[in-house]
Amino acid sequence: MNTVILVRYEEIFLKGLNKPAFENRLIKNMKRALYGLGKVKIAKAQSRIYVEPEIENYPADEAINRLTKVFGISSVSPVWKLETSKDVIFGKSVEMVRDILKKYNHRTFKVETKRADKKFPMNSMEVSRELGAVLLKNFPELKVNVTDPDFILYVEIREFSYIYSEIVPGVKGLPVGSNGTATLLISGGIDSPVAGWMIAKRGVKLEAVHFYSYPYTSERAKDKVIKLVKMLSVYNLGLRLHIIPFTEIQMYINQKCPHEYITIIMRRFMMKIAEKIALKNGSLGLVTGEAIGQVASQTLESLLVTNSAVSLPVYRPCIGMDKSEIVEISRRIGTYETSVLPYEDCCTLFVARHPVTKPRLEKTIELESVLNIEELIQRALDGAEVMDIE
Ligand code: ATP
Ligand code: MG
Repeated sequence: MNTVILVRYEEIFLKGLNKPAFENRLIKNMKRALYGLGKVKIAKAQSRIYVEPEIENYPADEAINRLTKVFGISSVSPVWKLETSKDVIFGKSVEMVRDILKKYNHRTFKVETKRADKKFPMNSMEVSRELGAVLLKNFPELKVNVTDPDFILYVEIREFSYIYSEIVPGVKGLPVGSNGTATLLISGGIDSPVAGWMIAKRGVKLEAVHFYSYPYTSERAKDKVIKLVKMLSVYNLGLRLHIIPFTEIQMYINQKCPHEYITIIMRRFMMKIAEKIALKNGSLGLVTGEAIGQVASQTLESLLVTNSAVSLPVYRPCIGMDKSEIVEISRRIGTYETSVLPYEDCCTLFVARHPVTKPRLEKTIELESVLNIEELIQRALDGAEVMDIE
């Protein structure tokens, strides 16, 4: 039996007249995610999407695994597509339940039927009841439990009919690319990959910028960021990474500015450079992993000063989250283990022992007024290394 994959989506239903555009984007993204697994037909019907393999032995498990990382999909089921006839549906149901019982030690079940094809001679209650009885006869070890069964056999009767029992949750959200582009400032830490993931989840296509301080930070620190970007790239369907040399700027700030202000001024440089890259790639915003009060550079005063360095909106999806909540998401999306690898980040260089927690904007601007900002930024941009990460 060749498995068909049934794909469900939720929030796209709220899109009214724009719904087809979102559906088409979702299908495009699904095609990209499934690329290389073998030929399939992807068809939209009844506000769902069916992925029908056109080859023998299509790797449905891997396909489902990939689809659960495509934003916009709320759940996925491996289903059997059948001719709409009572004999076929009942016969195949017995076969499917036999497969299920080989895999799981289930003891109770129920049948749930949806009949969309009103020409079918039995109503849904009748199908559930009769099919339930057939299953009980074939599998004496099973009992019916309508309130809390070990498994449910779903039967959908339409032009074709579908039977399945597994519902694999998806990541939800909206299809990437349906909501413009934003530029993520990605460090090697825990927070920024989570921030990027949360924004991509809302349909935003990300580009990423990373600042590194070679030779003070190692090649391994850079590889770690590339690895994180690769993980995000799965959700983002490809991700362009700009790696920006930051050593010269850091040394310069360290030399020219009072110690307690170096972190905040460095943060402003990062924002300015990221904004230049963002404007060039058509991004409509910047994304960071900042959370109020997490460190000295994330007090409201510091955020005000950092924010004032740019005019693009800065999206900070972690802003109201505790560290433990951010960690929870990073574990879920798989970035945590890599984020906690102990390689130096450029931010840990030249750290002030006592950074200001309440920097003042006027003072910051005054301190910056003697710096060669434009020239430094231009040199950093000229030294950028751009990688397209799949
Ligand atoms: P993260 O866990 O993301 O590193 P953090 O809590 O360590 O965040 P900071 O080091 O103050 O916080 O950085 C705040 C934000 O600035 C980061 O979330 C990230 O968006 C950006 N950022 C910090 N360092 C870099 C870097 N080297 N390259 C690019 N962006 C950076
Ligand atoms: Mg950090």
